[in-house]
Amino acid sequence: RKADLQMKEMKKYRVKPGHQVHWDEVDANDKGPFGKKEDAVEETEASIQKIDLLQERLYAEGQRALLIVLQGIDTAGKNGTIRHVMRGINPQGCQVRSFNVPTPEERAHDFLWRIHQHVPAKGSIGIFNRSHYEDVIVTRVHDLISDREAAKRFQEINDFERILARNGTTVLKFYLAISKDEQRPRLQSRLDDPRKHWKFSPNDLTERGFWDRYPKAYAEAISATSTKHAPWHLIPGNHEWYRNHLVAKIIAATLAEMDPQYPAAPEGIDFHKVEIPA
Ligand code: AMP
Ligand code: MG
Repeated sequence: RKADLQMKEMKKYRVKPGHQVHWDEVDANDKGPFGKKEDAVEETEASIQKIDLLQERLYAEGQRALLIVLQGIDTAGKNGTIRHVMRGINPQGCQVRSFNVPTPEERAHDFLWRIHQHVPAKGSIGIFNRSHYEDVIVTRVHDLISDREAAKRFQEINDFERILARNGTTVLKFYLAISKDEQRPRLQSRLDDPRKHWKFSPNDLTERGFWDRYPKAYAEAISATSTKHAPWHLIPGNHEWYRNHLVAKIIAATLAEMDPQYPAAPEGIDFHKVEIPA
């Protein structure tokens, strides 16, 4: 069956709990079964439509939520994924939150303090553009925390995400993988195109200098935190259309599995007989 095949393709990108991810595991150039963008368009559009329909049911049901976490190095495509994959959905049922370098107030609390207050309310979809995972990735790339502290934080993250799951929030995590060769033209376009200058930060170049450290930090964090209740997906990101295709498909399939239901109609009303006053 087509649905089974889709599920199988989806699972290929899901990190099984306990699996030790190798830093070189993702082929960023992967295009799955497709030769070119045009071959995937129809299915991608179908997924986007499905997300819209199911989001409405999620909202109507009002009992559960979906949290989508997007992680990846600068230019990996976090913004582009949000723009394309979520374009079909009702803005009323969806919130996006981006996490920047912690403010002094945020830093004065535990690392989950600023995160928890932005998780989606029941009935809605929340998207994190960066997340609590920065606290176990960028901090390790720059040796700001010890391995021991990182191990403790992995545990805290798993506990935190379990709290969310137990309270009706499905958590889906995506790591968008691009190659170093692919990042260069993406950064270059931020220098060449005046409309992209605002996006450029000299920090992007500093971080590129740490390129070799990122995949290892990611591999460790993902290995320690891909759980049944909050699985990671490793998404090939060099081809934007394939990245969008996969993320949309995984979100659509997850919402379909959640299968939100319209609430029962209020009792005692004979809907066919109600007359609207003139
Ligand atoms: P951007 O996503 O391009 O707006 O950049 C946000 C920056 O904030 C990135 O360089 C992140 O690494 C950084 N950032 C986000 N969260 C944290 C954190 N918890 N600790 C340190 N840096 C962070
Ligand atoms: Mg940036």
